[in-house]
Amino acid sequence: MIPIEEARTYVMDRCRPQPPEATDVADALGLVTATDVIANESLPPFANTAMDGFAVRSADLSSVPVQLEVVETIAAGHNPTRSLDSGQASRIMTGAPIPDGADAIVMVEKTSVDGDTVTIEVQVGPGNHIRPAGDDLMKGDLVFPAGTRLTAGRLGVLCSLGFREIETYPRLRVGVMSTGDELVDDGGDLEPGQIRDSNRRTLLSLLSGDAFVPVDLGLIADDEGAIEEALGQGARDCDAVITSGGVSMGDFDYVKAVLNRIGDMRWMQIAIKPAKPLAFGTIKGTPIFGLPGNPVSSMVSYELFARAGLRSMMGFKEPIRAAIKGIAANSISRRTDGKIHYVRVIAEHENGATVVYPVSGQGSHMLASMARSNALAVLPDGEGCEAGEQVDVLLLD
Ligand code: AMP
Ligand code: MG
Repeated sequence: MIPIEEARTYVMDRCRPQPPEATDVADALGLVTATDVIANESLPPFANTAMDGFAVRSADLSSVPVQLEVVETIAAGHNPTRSLDSGQASRIMTGAPIPDGADAIVMVEKTSVDGDTVTIEVQVGPGNHIRPAGDDLMKGDLVFPAGTRLTAGRLGVLCSLGFREIETYPRLRVGVMSTGDELVDDGGDLEPGQIRDSNRRTLLSLLSGDAFVPVDLGLIADDEGAIEEALGQGARDCDAVITSGGVSMGDFDYVKAVLNRIGDMRWMQIAIKPAKPLAFGTIKGTPIFGLPGNPVSSMVSYELFARAGLRSMMGFKEPIRAAIKGIAANSISRRTDGKIHYVRVIAEHENGATVVYPVSGQGSHMLASMARSNALAVLPDGEGCEAGEQVDVLLLD
């Protein structure tokens, strides 16, 4: 067995960021910027009012109430046509530009109108309720450094600044195939010995959730020819391929045989539980993750290796999920076996702490208990932990 760090270094060394490209902002959610983004405009682009109300000269309000002549109404999206002299005001709507001569806004709630006259009831200082040009960003400011993940809000900022395209690492297309003669996916009755394929749906869904493009390479029988064809197609059409099943020590583990022949693979036994076996390598430069078939193992292996490697290829600066500190609600026992254990837990926020409750059913075939959990508690080799002890936790959703 090798330590997880060694396996991960091996994977990460072969999962380098892809060359950046210009991406339409509409397609960039979840991608990582490849260059610094500099504001080419100021935000807001012009001084405007934060309130519906009246633009005034604050010096006119030295004693209130005071009556001012209303010279025009300025709607958002329209330019003022009148500049204000002493004793004048303009009715103004949120977002509209400030007229020349005005230096403050009085909110409509503090005024009353009679014909062309407004009575102002409060004193306000210069700048009141005015959003100056460049208040949020000045032209030339660094908006995001290279390596920023584009979230909904950040895409909004890019649109505010007029960007239509942005330089990002390309979204990865990742193929997924299940292998195993026992697997079916047609919804029919099960014949003796058959089970239904779950890993493919799970892995494709994990990929979508992590902003990759999932590519379904299908359910492949334990047949060398079929496996070779699917792997070849995946390696040609995709930026990376994930297989599930067929990489253990069994007699019909043909994925292993094919990958040995057409790929440059390393077969690892990693000192972790679950997900001890991992095949990782490349076919003509395309990374291939051979995950174990047991459903929990394949999810954990995806989390620890595939997700990290794929995120690295997509330019993430911190591709590996960082553990947070949690508190074990109950004792979690395990035996000393030279492995790190990833225990399926429910993590809850309680009184400012993350408290973890192990779920029942920790077998690597027990997908339903994996699905009940939302986190993995990381237990180093040893006898486990007591209730109330601190544990590292990987929050999965
Ligand atoms: P293998 O890695 O092919 O030896 O499979 C290990 C275990 O996982 C076996 O019990 C398989 O039936 C099961 N398994 C393999 N692939 C899948 C899959 N796609 N969905 C559900 N179970 C699977
Ligand atoms: Mg199998």
